[in-house]
Amino acid sequence: YPPERIRNFSIIAHVDHGKSTLADRLLELTGTIKKGHGQPQYLDKLQVERERGITVKAQTATMFFRHKFQQHEATENENAPNFLLNLIDTPGHVDFSYEVSRSLAACQGVLLVVDAAQGVQAQTVANFYLAFESNLAIIPVINKIDQPTADPDRVKAQLKSLFDLDPNHALLTSAKTGQGLEHVLPSVIDRIPAPPGKCDSPLRMLLLDSYYDEYKGVICHVAVVDGALYKGDKIASSATGHVYEVSDIGIMHPELTPTGVLLTGQVGYIVSGMRSTNEARVGDTLHQAKSTVLPLPGFKPAKHMVFSGLYPADGSDFDALNHAIERLICNDASVSVTKETSTALGMGFRCGFLGLLHMDVFHQRLEQEYGAKVLSTIPTVPYIFEYSDGSKVQVQNPAALASNPGKSVTACWEPSVIATIILPCEYVGPVITLCSERRGDQLEYSFIESQRVLMKYQLPLREIVVDFYNELKSITSGYASFDYEDAEEGVEGKLELWRSTLQSKDFCLSSSKTEYMECNFSSNRFSGRFVTLSNQAINICICFRYLGSIHNIKLSVAEMRVLRWMSGFTFSNMIRNKHIREKVGVALVTNKIRESLLRWYGHVKRQPFDDPVRRVVVLNWPMLRKVEVYLKRLVKLDILLNGQAVDAMATIVHNLKAQRVGRELVDKLKKFIDRQMFEISIQAAIGSRIIARETISAMRKNVLSKCYGGDVTRKRKLLEKQKEGKKRMKRVGSVDVPQEAFHELLKVS
Ligand code: GDP
Ligand code: MG
Repeated sequence: YPPERIRNFSIIAHVDHGKSTLADRLLELTGTIKKGHGQPQYLDKLQVERERGITVKAQTATMFFRHKFQQHEATENENAPNFLLNLIDTPGHVDFSYEVSRSLAACQGVLLVVDAAQGVQAQTVANFYLAFESNLAIIPVINKIDQPTADPDRVKAQLKSLFDLDPNHALLTSAKTGQGLEHVLPSVIDRIPAPPGKCDSPLRMLLLDSYYDEYKGVICHVAVVDGALYKGDKIASSATGHVYEVSDIGIMHPELTPTGVLLTGQVGYIVSGMRSTNEARVGDTLHQAKSTVLPLPGFKPAKHMVFSGLYPADGSDFDALNHAIERLICNDASVSVTKETSTALGMGFRCGFLGLLHMDVFHQRLEQEYGAKVLSTIPTVPYIFEYSDGSKVQVQNPAALASNPGKSVTACWEPSVIATIILPCEYVGPVITLCSERRGDQLEYSFIESQRVLMKYQLPLREIVVDFYNELKSITSGYASFDYEDAEEGVEGKLELWRSTLQSKDFCLSSSKTEYMECNFSSNRFSGRFVTLSNQAINICICFRYLGSIHNIKLSVAEMRVLRWMSGFTFSNMIRNKHIREKVGVALVTNKIRESLLRWYGHVKRQPFDDPVRRVVVLNWPMLRKVEVYLKRLVKLDILLNGQAVDAMATIVHNLKAQRVGRELVDKLKKFIDRQMFEISIQAAIGSRIIARETISAMRKNVLSKCYGGDVTRKRKLLEKQKEGKKRMKRVGSVDVPQEAFHELLKVS
């Protein structure tokens, strides 16, 4: 198959809109899998995927299809397939959007599946933009038209108004009844471009994914961009320079099917004697060992949003867990693992995940597929702390943060996300309340149709990792859909940016939106670039320190609005205004923060530009700096059992929430820890300050004392019960803590 006879496409959709089912139907239609045989959602191979009904890993399948052209084509065999189609099924859940963007790198187009009854949901929006930004052809597919509540016209109107997609181009299907499916593949061929690679150029292929197979070793999924690859070829990795020999090569049809060759535009697998998946770097460019090529643009590396400690649960040992984790990460390269030791729990691992569901899935796979028994600690997001001596630390484990570092914290950073929420308008009130409780800042509020609203919020990641989604679902009777994307360039990157912001004499401008402009006046010429930045606690909109002459500055709409409102000036007027130029910073803040600002700096009220309605506060420079430090304060919350800090229970919380979280943690623990031989005190502390305390009084001497003179069987029963109870206990210092207690602590936020 030459490239013009190949199409690489993906199916993207909000969860449950029917991606996997549609994929099944297409595989059946092309005879790739037999109809009615095997399980539904063929491409969801993992047990977790089947149990939870979600797709976790992207899967690829190659199909052959006969496309009838308008003009009659002269071929020997009328029915021979004349097109090769590669279908890449993607996960729908937010945590796995990393997998989605990876899959899209190998595609030229997508089927954007939307449920005819539910309409466009949050992930539809997110996925649309992923595809749109990658310049892919987008074919809207309105699925589930067999449902009684289906309303395809409404969905068409949404596609038009939200994405400017031509409603006449939408396909109407039912993956259940088969209605309309016959148009899907012909549309793929007609509307999605052929892969653009050059057949006669040296080989370049993109490593899409890898996993470990007991028998074959590391299997890599690859997309051949230019050139061709044959069995026996020697290939090299652009990332490491290592050379491998291709010992097996083929397509997924849908099982591994050796073909001996992969040509330009094809997607397939290779086995090349890589010993571990560490060598197979996802996003790497592979090329012929003898030639050198320009590497293809790689993917953004996986970004770990949630960290948690994994320890062997009692009754299992460290080596078993170690072995299980090592094997599982061969199939899930997006997890980061480092060894750590806890005084309470012993030896274990600190793992980084893409999100909470990802963490759960990893946990479940460890237990189901590798038989490990795992105890996990409170998930945390990566924070950065900066101290008065200029040093900074990234904290992945709250226990590692010194309670009394002996120097003051000058700033802390926590990752935040931009959340998209779509919901019927009657639920707007409670959702706004929820978001502001979670320290969210509204960025956008718009109607996507008369009864449905799209809201964008900037939220600290910490506030959504714990139970946000469930809460959102419950207060909206399940009608809200939710997705989020990372709001920053990278925690560390941001730190540097802030440094230049606050210390250089240069001009800098940042907005509460996702964009941040870093400007450089080192020469007379202005140069600037937009970088993504956000800050959760305070959204400093614009900070002026020194302005040179500025031309060609692009401002976001929000910034323009603030600026115009502020002074009635246009931007260029503003920068000529000496007062603004030298003295003033502007903060666009949430009402909540504004309140605390006013409390903190009573005199802010007298500032001329303070406007409660528009949430804008104008501060002079030193004040702005102080406020910023104040608002960003995060503190380490220790839990002490009998006066001894339990490292595995430490968390980092926002200043303003510490009291409540401390109280809740202590109450939870009191409920779960049984009375023991001695009195147990449970305390929550920030540094040396105790903020909450409970006591569990001592039990009488021992369980048996209750049955003096009692009969033997009863005694034995009690002893056994006690033993049974023990199994699920974790001894922390002198106190036995049941494992559920650790799990319950996860739910406090
Ligand atoms: P995914 O999460 O997008 O992969 O969605 P699935 O393919 O797993 O489908 C979710 C649910 O919708 C399953 O229970 C399917 O049986 C059902 N479903 C899929 N397509 C249709 C359809 O066209 N009509 C109806 N009525 N149900 C469908
Ligand atoms: Mg699925």
